[in-house]
Amino acid sequence: MNAPLAPHTTFKIGGPCDALVKVANYDMLKKALLFCKENRLPYRIFGNGSNILVRDEGVRGVVLLLGKDFALTAADEKSGFVVCGAGVSLTALCLAARDASLTGLEFAYGIPGTVGGAIYMNAGAYDGEIANRLHSCDYLDGNGNYAELDCLKERENFSYRKSPFTGSGKIIVSAEFQLSKGDKAQITAKMDDFMNRRREKQPLEFPSAGSTFKRPEGGYASRLIDVCGLKGFSVGGAQVSEKHAGFIINKGGATCSDVLKLIEAVKERVFKETGIMLEREVEVLG
Ligand SMILES: Cc1cc2nc3c(=O)[nH]c(=O)nc-3n(C[C@H](O)[C@H](O)[C@H](O)COP(=O)(O)OP(=O)(O)OC[C@H]3O[C@@H](n4cnc5c(N)ncnc54)[C@H](O)[C@@H]3O)c2cc1C
Repeated sequence: MNAPLAPHTTFKIGGPCDALVKVANYDMLKKALLFCKENRLPYRIFGNGSNILVRDEGVRGVVLLLGKDFALTAADEKSGFVVCGAGVSLTALCLAARDASLTGLEFAYGIPGTVGGAIYMNAGAYDGEIANRLHSCDYLDGNGNYAELDCLKERENFSYRKSPFTGSGKIIVSAEFQLSKGDKAQITAKMDDFMNRRREKQPLEFPSAGSTFKRPEGGYASRLIDVCGLKGFSVGGAQVSEKHAGFIINKGGATCSDVLKLIEAVKERVFKETGIMLEREVEVLG
């Protein structure tokens, strides 16, 4: 099939996969996983592709996308529970919580991922992280078996940009968040403030995968990169953003190879000048 993957990532970079399968519902997802198992095909799932850098040669095997049954959200104002499919965007989740006057997820407004992708890597911003309000998750393992993760019991297995799902091959299908009653106007103001800060500081006009590097102990990767004078530094079509040094952007026609070379050059220079070795946050696939 050789399906292009670049349009399914926010970086707009990378080669094809062997087969791209959009599963509309739970049964289709289960069938697809069993098919991959029987035929010994590797599989991956993409959310919004906002933390993924696909290699120029592409990804072998099947890439799964979640369809319409995974895009539903229900918020219960009284109990504070919000239940949603793993394919729901964080923006839609935050808006549903706001509409029900529920507080606790405002920090996630503007992170351009899905609930599944955010749980997978415990996305966070502005001192919040997804695990803080996550009550439980339903998932399928590679054998197509269904299970539920009690995220309160598992809380200690969520850490900075890591969850019990990271690298496990399990597919999150839905999640339940427990939020608190709040004031709708205050929730809206907080969300707007976070969104404005993103618009002001981040190069949202260019394709990227957000922060390229994890936050090193006691500091910010962007500050270290800036101090080393690397803002604007480029390899091919990939550039350290002049607006936010923590972002590598696709200025136009960047390849995965350009981005990887730039990442290595940045790491080398930062290490040489500060003694700190940066760690990549963006996941490279293929
Ligand atoms: C402009 C911009 C700003 C950003 N700001 C932030 C930020 O403030 N904080 C932050 O943490 N991140 C940020 N990011 C990165 C990214 O948006 C988050 O990591 C987000 O959680 C990724 O979600 P996704 O749906 O795009 O996942 P993808 O990038 O599609 O996938 C990421 C990983 O999750 C796995 N995955 C996806 N869905 C599922 C599922 N249903 N079950 C199991 N595994 C799954 C994938 O296989 C992959 O390994 C930013 C990115 C951009 C482009």
